[in-house]
Amino acid sequence: MSGTIHPHIWQPASLLQLAHVRAGLTTRGFGNMAPYVGDVEEATQNRVQLAGILGCSAEAVVWATQVHGTDIAEADRRSTGCLGTFDAIVTREPGCLLLCYTADCVPIWLVSSRRPLGAVVHAGWRGSAALVVRAAVEQLIKLGAEPTELHAVVGPAIQGSCYEVGRETAERFPEAVVDADGGGYRVDLPLFNRMQLQEAGIPKRHIETSRLCTHCHQGFSSYRREKEAAQRMAAFLLFGS
Ligand SMILES: [Zn+2]
Repeated sequence: MSGTIHPHIWQPASLLQLAHVRAGLTTRGFGNMAPYVGDVEEATQNRVQLAGILGCSAEAVVWATQVHGTDIAEADRRSTGCLGTFDAIVTREPGCLLLCYTADCVPIWLVSSRRPLGAVVHAGWRGSAALVVRAAVEQLIKLGAEPTELHAVVGPAIQGSCYEVGRETAERFPEAVVDADGGGYRVDLPLFNRMQLQEAGIPKRHIETSRLCTHCHQGFSSYRREKEAAQRMAAFLLFGS
């Protein structure tokens, strides 16, 4: 399993080398993936199409109602559809197609290099401040992972000068990830999530951080750019057997 699988899917380079993993982010051209935005039937068809591209059944697709919290679902081969209200989904079985929906929020993939064990995580500013990705790593460790076998990808998200926030939001973050030069506050959410991954024990060389900004790059969906019309992309993770 390597190379680009579809022109409208972004794939993190560092996971392409792991033969048992399929991971990526559907981009704007793939169409809306979330059932709570736009045409429900169209989103369903887009998820079915993604499952087909990845060689699994539509019933294997699982996702959650994301609420910017830290609760974590576990999916297994009997899981299907919406699992409930969660912002991270872990699995320790091959064949579950995990989805997490984003449009500016940070998608994060956590993958064991040794076995079918991993997670997708949704981290906007609230989830990032609440340390959701750290909670997801700790859950994988509880399920038997060594931190050193984990690989992580912090995916495309709004960042840099595009991500200006109010002072009250900025104050929830350590100074190291806040830029207050020249007025206003900018929070580096990808960096803050990367710091959490390192603090949880994942080796630096196992962490890929995308510097693609969803707001700058029209190929991605952006809530700040497109407002209510913004589609949701899907960060997906599937383990092969
Ligand atoms: Zn930008």
